Amino acid sequence: MSFKPANNIQDLQYFGEFGGVNPSISDSSTYTFLSAKTMFDTFEGNADGCYLYSRHSSPSNLYLGEALAAMEGTETATVTASGMGAITPVLLQLCEAGEQIISSRTIYGGTYAFLKNFAPRLGIDTSFVDITNLERVEAAITDKTRVIYCESVSNPLLEVADVQSLAQLAKKYNLKLVVDNTFSPLSISPKKLGADVVIHSLTKFINGSSDTVGGVVCGTQEFIDQLRNVNDGAAMLLGSTMDSLRSASVLKNLRTLHIRMQQHSKNACYLAKKFENLGLKTVYPGLASHSSHELFKSMMNAEYGFGGMLTIDVGSLDKANALMELMQERNLGYLAVSLGFYKTLFSAPGSSTSSEIPDEEQQQMGLSDGLIRFSIGLDADIERTFTMMYQCMTEIGVLEPEMTLA
Ligand SMILES: *Cc1c(COP(=O)(O)O)cnc(C)c1O
Repeated sequence: MSFKPANNIQDLQYFGEFGGVNPSISDSSTYTFLSAKTMFDTFEGNADGCYLYSRHSSPSNLYLGEALAAMEGTETATVTASGMGAITPVLLQLCEAGEQIISSRTIYGGTYAFLKNFAPRLGIDTSFVDITNLERVEAAITDKTRVIYCESVSNPLLEVADVQSLAQLAKKYNLKLVVDNTFSPLSISPKKLGADVVIHSLTKFINGSSDTVGGVVCGTQEFIDQLRNVNDGAAMLLGSTMDSLRSASVLKNLRTLHIRMQQHSKNACYLAKKFENLGLKTVYPGLASHSSHELFKSMMNAEYGFGGMLTIDVGSLDKANALMELMQERNLGYLAVSLGFYKTLFSAPGSSTSSEIPDEEQQQMGLSDGLIRFSIGLDADIERTFTMMYQCMTEIGVLEPEMTLA
């Protein structure tokens, strides 16, 4: 595959007002017009290059959106105040009361809660399916279905969606395929595989410094215009707008995403192999034992690797908690939700980020109590990290006596 997402970002050239190497930050909520006629035209959506009010658009937000659209290979994008602030307007724009969404059952807890508990209040129902089973997906489609929703690499189980086949299904039934690509920026380019809309929580790898929440919707000009329409655009009317100061800061962090993703992937791959060799139940898409390893390989932009996320199952919640507390004490990472930080973050998803999912359903989808989700950091010396993690595991009694250091 010849798509080069990081080159596409790099090739955009922005200058600041006084020749600055970073674009000027637009520090205004409203904009003057030289003529009243232009203001009217802008309201009607007919004045390109004019800004009206920053909930609609602002120069700083457009710069960041343009860079993320270049990364995903879509016509354009709109940035939002959070990942959920991107996901909910997209689904509400695409579906009306009486219509239906088909969603992967292994998705981010907040998205699951929205689809399961909130969208039905608006008459939008969701059929949750095993997204890796294409026959199930197709069987769930009805004449009310409008959207197929999935994560390219799912949270927290790291299931991989076959974006190309799902896109073909979507096309066949005239549905929109919406893909949340938060776990695999640069590695997977869903639009290139046929997705209609690509969403990210910028909070995670893309911003990478755990100092803000943010989101983006990447899609066609027509769809992004619909989202921003002053009369009936869900992004415009629900108001989840990113602040300009923040979007300028996210854009600067985006500059190093390609280097960070390579290091996250390299470190995660190293640890996953070591953990698996110890006999720990390890899930990482870069392992040959992962059920979608070949699929991921066939979709990926190889230079960015298999990403920074992995899970291990240590058998029980008590052991998981003890291990995480000890690893934090030894400064190997933080017991925290979220991902994509320079430091390793770990949490037990069953009792945290996926706690919105009822226990019974957690079991069905393989989300066990002893599961620990790791977002592997940018550690310079991953060999040392492993040795220290191994020591913690030995002390907590996670490893059986026969699991010896390979
Ligand atoms: C965190 C996350 C979200 C939600 O993003 P926020 O920025 O927290 O609103 C959505 N999808 C995935 C896969 C996530 O990890």
